This record gives sequence, structure tokens and C-alpha cells, in this order.
Amino acid sequence: DPHVTKFVYDFTEGNRDLKDLLGGKGANLAEMTNLGLPVPPGFTITTDACKVYLDSGDEPAELRDEVSAHLDALEKKMGKRLGQADDPLLVSVRSGAKFSMPGMMDTVLNIGLSDESVVGLAAQAGDERFAWDSYRRLIQMFGKTVLGVDGNLFEEALEEAKDAKGVVSDVDLPAAELKKLVKHFKKIVSREAGREFPQEPREQMDLAIHAVFDSWNTDRAKLYRRQERIPGDLGTAVNVCSMVFGNLGPDSGTGVAFTRDPASGHQGVYGDYLQNAQGEDVVAGIRNTVPLAELEAIDKASYDQLMQIMETLETHYRDLCDIEFTIERGQLWMLQTRVGKRTAGAAFRIATQLVDQGLIGEAEALQRVNGAQLAQLMFPRFDTAPNQDVAKVNLIGRGIAASPGAAVGKAVFDSYTAIKWSRSGEQVILIRRETNPDDLDGMIAAEGILTSRGGKTSHAAVVARGMGKTCVCGAEEIEVDTKRRRMTAANGVVIEEGDVVSVDGSTGKVYAGEVPVVPSPVVEYFEGRMHAGADDADELVAAVHRIMAYADRVRRLRVRANADNAEDALRARRFGAQGIGLCRTEHMFLGERRGLVERLILADTDEEREKALGALLPLQKKDFIELFEAMDGLPVTVRLLDPPLHEFLPDITELSVRVALAESRKDANENDLRLLQAVHKLHEQNPMLGLRGVRLGLVIPGLFAMQVRAIAEAAAERKNAKGDPRPEVMIPLVGTVQELEIVRDEADRVIAEVEAATGTNLKLTIGTMIELPRAALTAGQLAEAAQFFSFGTNDLTQTVWGFSRDDVEASFFTAYLEKGIFGVSPFETIDRDGVGALVRSACEAGRATRPDLKLGVCGEHGGDPESVHFFHEVGLDYVSCSPFRIPVARLEAGRAAA
Ligand code: ADP
Ligand code: MG
Ligand code: MG
Repeated sequence: DPHVTKFVYDFTEGNRDLKDLLGGKGANLAEMTNLGLPVPPGFTITTDACKVYLDSGDEPAELRDEVSAHLDALEKKMGKRLGQADDPLLVSVRSGAKFSMPGMMDTVLNIGLSDESVVGLAAQAGDERFAWDSYRRLIQMFGKTVLGVDGNLFEEALEEAKDAKGVVSDVDLPAAELKKLVKHFKKIVSREAGREFPQEPREQMDLAIHAVFDSWNTDRAKLYRRQERIPGDLGTAVNVCSMVFGNLGPDSGTGVAFTRDPASGHQGVYGDYLQNAQGEDVVAGIRNTVPLAELEAIDKASYDQLMQIMETLETHYRDLCDIEFTIERGQLWMLQTRVGKRTAGAAFRIATQLVDQGLIGEAEALQRVNGAQLAQLMFPRFDTAPNQDVAKVNLIGRGIAASPGAAVGKAVFDSYTAIKWSRSGEQVILIRRETNPDDLDGMIAAEGILTSRGGKTSHAAVVARGMGKTCVCGAEEIEVDTKRRRMTAANGVVIEEGDVVSVDGSTGKVYAGEVPVVPSPVVEYFEGRMHAGADDADELVAAVHRIMAYADRVRRLRVRANADNAEDALRARRFGAQGIGLCRTEHMFLGERRGLVERLILADTDEEREKALGALLPLQKKDFIELFEAMDGLPVTVRLLDPPLHEFLPDITELSVRVALAESRKDANENDLRLLQAVHKLHEQNPMLGLRGVRLGLVIPGLFAMQVRAIAEAAAERKNAKGDPRPEVMIPLVGTVQELEIVRDEADRVIAEVEAATGTNLKLTIGTMIELPRAALTAGQLAEAAQFFSFGTNDLTQTVWGFSRDDVEASFFTAYLEKGIFGVSPFETIDRDGVGALVRSACEAGRATRPDLKLGVCGEHGGDPESVHFFHEVGLDYVSCSPFRIPVARLEAGRAAA
């Protein structure tokens, strides 16, 4: 019956497109089989079977027979039966999900060996040592992964056996010792697992298959999936693969290889080989491997064949592949391949190399890189070039590269010292065992953060990434002694408070001493200080240049910058900005202008207020003239004043103390008293939901009118100087169209006045931010009064989730990430289902009212790769982000469209 679900596929039946069903490993084993490459025969049990098993607690009824049929066929092909006493067929039972989950699930080799068949294997191979070595490996792996015995017990027993024999390497253990070890291992199993090691080969196989199914749901695997956002219901496939043996003597071995260098992208021979070894011995580091190139001298025929196969795979997959292989007595076998991981720089180089080789086109090349990689390439880095005087610096440890960048500073072991020293102009590295919310100020003060505990979602890692601060966490070989203010590295180096350390957040490396920092060549290129076409151009820069050109050619989203001054605007232009999407005006009220703002706030009469506004007007106007000049010919969206007023006034506690002290001396100053009154009056429990945004414009007469006048007069002046200013006025924190209409009417009046007075036609547009749920829900009405929407997704995320951004990231986000409630902060990547849904419906409603409504986004999400794809999908016209994120946004906008 063709409608019956098929749960088992022979390697000859699958292909690489069946990853959902066969997992990555199974699909690629099938692909290699069909390419005619030497893959040991076998079959794959589908993820569907796994799902049934996990849902019902039992394998599907049909599975047993299907496995039997495929095993039968395999046995026929191989000419021997599983576990056959005189000449056993052995198999591996290997996990393999759709997405690789390194180290999460396990594999058992040498299934089919028993007390009986080990003797047959020894006779067949003419090698007793080999047979018993294989048997002890089976009991060890089976005991650990299938029967749940603590793996250390086996490791310790193996160590003891080597010590007793006075040998260092397992290959030097003779057959007699391995026999004893097998006995010992079996005892461990029966003691720890409460059952004997199964002697029946099919029982071994079935138990191993179930163990692989079960490994999908270990706590470790679940946590990993939540963090990596891999769906929890995919299940894993199981591959049953006939064994080939790399542990059959010096003419055998096992290795890993890359079709090109995963660090540079260069073609060549990259990999490691280990003679007389099986399975994971190569990566386990128990014996010294040799570079793959040396295989040529060891076994030229296999080496040549391997080179040929790598070429075949590269051309077939049209990408860098990594490979696992084994040589059994001079015969080469392929055990695994997949498109390989690579460094950020290699990703760009490889993509362009493959275009040059004609293997992929430009659109495809864009999919081979991403914005996160580009961002990584833009960080300054340590100059660890060979000509550096490395004697002065000393690698003292390595942890998790939690937040990229290169930080150098004096070691401090508590936040208080970090703050104190940084105030006096020192650069410091905050070193803690782990951080907690109390360390926040210290983290802000530090150049970089180093912890000896915790992973990618630890407090230190999450907060540092949020702040864009260099961080290495979980450097476990470093001992941090907070009390004595020092740390000790594994190599004995002691770093005392005040000693200089260098922390590389891109590689996780930690150095004693100062490593010189060099700017990224990619930034030098974007800044225009390095030309991609120059003779001495960096290979990487040339690749980035080409990829950016592909992206710019296809992208539909325009990219603007968040910039408040001419300097940032000019940099943004160099980085490719097509305008300013958010010019915050609050900085124009700080510094020496604070006094004027105080006067405005304290004004008792219209006259006083108008005077204060009158003094601010020319200053604002000058700011805008510079900005419009820097962005000549491109749109500049100016947001009217947004933050709560108390931000412009002295801190309430400081001022209270000052006034109290003055009063006790009887010389309180009148202005301070008024200020204190005002501060009290403006004090809010919840300032982010208080008097700010459009509300300011509505209750402080003349404030927004002054800002609009400054914008209009600046534009008129630029126009009259033959410039091409394109300002857009943006009203923040609007919740209802009535607010917008009042501000709009006033703005229209002011603009008309300025146009009449200067004889210009300014074509100023007026729009609103959408950053409150109510604004999003009434977007259709708002569009009647707004010519554009700019989604302020920072505030929108705050208000939709009810999260205070300034508080939650440091307090409970770590717990949320650890529990897998989300894999990434919604302030970092837009929450598609919640905030995103509001954005989407607001776009539709807005455009229904006003078909030519311009739509954009400003805020952190505008430069976040995944969010950019979302904004492309919902049909925004542009994203706006900080100048440094512009190349990332351009690239991702291109990838979204390609
Ligand atoms: P992982 O997913 O951790 O890479 P694998 O299933 O690839 O696990 O297997 C672990 C190790 O055992 C690898 O080195 C692999 O090459 C080796 N191995 C797996 N199956 C066989 C086999 N049939 N014959 C020889 N070695 C094998
Ligand atoms: Mg593998
Ligand atoms: Mg806002």
C-alpha cells in the first residue's frame, strides 16, 4: 500500500533535500551514496518514527518489520549477519537531527559485538587486539549513552589499565589487557545499570535506536533548542551504518577535513588525521593527530582519492564542506559531510570566490553571508600578527566569546573600583566570577568584562551584548579571587588589581598585558580610507565591497541613519545612509543650553516663557542648518522634543541636599528654591509613561512651535543658499489623532508664516511615530493627519510587553533566556508575533487611508538583521539605525530581497 508511511530509507533512497525527514546526517549520507562516493551501506530511520515514539512512548508498530527488512538487505549486501558469531556484521547507530546540535545527542559504534562474536571478529581480522579494542569501545559507549552509566567510570578504568601496564596510549594496550578491561567494563555496567550488557545483537541495536530517540528530549538538548530557537517537535533521525574500522593497525585511521580553510577561505588541504584510531579519537585529543597533508606520505592512494572526493563535494554542494572519513587497511570510506561552519571573514571571501568559480550567482552569494558576520568584521581587533612582540603579552585563558570587540584595561575585581578608576580616567576591565544586577554600573564604566563562570546567556553576556560592550564569559581555567583582588590563570600567571589585561570578545581569548588594537580594515573601507580597487587592497575588503554592491543592487528597503549632528550625519553618508530617519532634538537642549531650558520650565508668565523660547530658537536653527547641509538632497526626519522634562533638571536628591545645606546656613538661593519646587512638581513615578512626547508639546505653549520654526527657517535658509534641504517633522508618542491634529495645525501655521516671510516653498512633511499600542490600533485614523509613520519599536516593545527597557534587561531577562521564554531579547530582535503583528496591521490600516503614506522604522531594531527581514516583509520603505549599523542593514535588506 503506497499510502502507508515509510519509516526507513536505505542510504540509496534518500537525498540532501530530505533533511526534515532524514536529518542532516542521513540526508547527506544518502546524497554521497548517490554521488557514487564510498559510503558504508546503511539506512536511516525517519524523524517521523521518532515523533511517534516520543508522543506515544513506543515506536510505531510498523517500524520493527521495516527495520528488519532493511537490516536483512544490508546483511545480504555485506554477506554477513549482524553479530554473526564467526564473522559479525557490525553497525553504528548514529543520531542526526535536521539542525546540527553539537554534543547534544550520541552515537554508538560497533553494535553487534558480543562475547561470542568478538572471537569471530578477531579471527576474521587476524587481529585480536583490534577486536577487543572494538568490544571495549562498544561497552563503554553503550553503557554511557544507552544504559546511562557515568562515563567517567569507564575512563578511570581505562586509565588504571594503562597505568598498570605503564603505557600512555590506548593503542599500546595489548589484547590480553583489553580482554581484562572488557570484563571490568561489563562489571561496571551490571553494577551501575542493574542489568547485564546485552549479548543479543538485535537487542543492542533496538536499545540504541530508542536511546537516540530519547536523547532528543534530554534537558540539555531542550535548553539548547530553546536558545537556538530550534523547534522542539522536529525529532531526530537515526542512522544505522555498517562499520568500517580505522583501528585496524597503522594502515588504518580516521580523520576530519575541510574542502577549504574555514578560517581564510583559501583552497588547500585542511584537516587532521590519526592513524590506528576509531570514531571521535581525532577530536577527543587523546593522541596527537597529524595535519591532513601528511596523509600523502602515509597512504598516497587514499590521499589522492580524498582530494578528488573533496573536489566533487565542493562542486556538488557549491560550498565549503566538512568531512569525516575513515581508512580501513588502505580503503577510504566517507562517514559524514555537511556544509561547514566558517569564520566571518571566510564567509565573505568564500562567497565571492564561488561566484568567480561560476559555482553560484550574486543572489546566492548574498545568502552565504549575513549581517552578524559583517558586524563582527567591523569591530576593532587585536593585532596578533606574527611580527608583534608577543613576548610582552601572554595568552592566559580562553572563555566564551560573548560580545565582540577588543578591550584593554587595568584589572579590577569589583564594580565600585571600576567606577572609581574610570572616573579618574583609567580604562578598566571588570573581572568577576559572574556578574549580577549590582554590577551594572561597573559594567558600564568598564572597557570590557571578563567572567570565569556562565555561558552565552549568563547575566554578563546578555547585558554586555545589550550595551555593545566587549565580554568574555565562562573562562573556566581562570580562578577569580574577589576578596584578594586577583585572578590566577591555569599557567600560573597571577593578575593583581591594576595589572593590564586584554580581552578579545571575538575569539574569547584573554591576555596578560596590552595587546595593540588596530581598526578593522572593513571600517577603514567604509570610511573611505581604504579603496577596494587599490593594488594593495585587502582581500577581505575586496570581498566585502563586492557583496555590498550585490546587496545595494537588489534591496528595496532604503537605509537611513539615526543621527543628531553633522558629524554623525557625514559618517552615516559615507556608510551609505540615504537620509536621517531619526534626529533626536533633546541633545540640543543639553550642555550650556540647560540654563535656557530651566528658564523655560520655571517661567511663570507668557513673557518669561517666550523669552526663553526666543533664546533657544537661533541655537536650534543653527543645529538644523548644519544637519541639512550634511544631508543635502536627502530626507532628514526631525523628532520634536520627546523625553520627560525632569531629564533636563538637576537630580532631585542632589538638589534637595544642596537646598537643605544652604538653608541650614541661611543662604538658600531663590532660583534653587524655585527649581526644587519645579523638580518636585515634575517628579513622576513612571516618567516613561508620563509627561513626554506630544504631551509636552500640548501643555507647554510655544515649545513645538519654536522647534518647527527652527526647522522651517533653517530649511528656508538652506534653500536660499541653493541647497536642497528635505526636512520631515515627526511627532513622538502620539496615542490619538486628536493630539496629532492640534500639533499639526500649529505646525502648518508656523510653516506658512516662515514660507511667506522667506519667499520659499518648503514642502515640509509632517508625520508621527507609532510607538504606543493605541497608535498602532488606530493607525487608519492617524494616517488622515500624518504624511508618514515611523515605528518607534523600542517604546512600542516597552508598551506592548509592559517591559521597562531600562530595568528588565539587567534584572530578569537572564532568567527568561535561561528558561527559554525567548531566545533573544525582544529589544534586540523584533517580536514578530506581538509587536510585529501590530506593526503589520498598522501599515495596512495606514496605507488604506493614505496610499502614499511613507513607512519607516527607527530604533534599535532598524539595524538588527532578523528584524530588517521582517520590515522588508511588511513593506516598509526604510529602516533607520545608528551609523555603525548601516552597512549591516544594507546587507540584510539586500539578503531579504535577493
Ligand atoms: P557526531 O554527530 O557527533 O559527529 P557521528 O554519528 O558522526 O557523531 O559519529 C561519531 C564518530 O564515529 C565520528 O567520528 C564518525 O566518523 C564515527 N563513525 C560513525 N559511524 C561509523 C561507522 N559506521 N564506521 C566507522 N566510524 C563511524
Ligand atoms: Mg560526525
Ligand atoms: Mg520613543
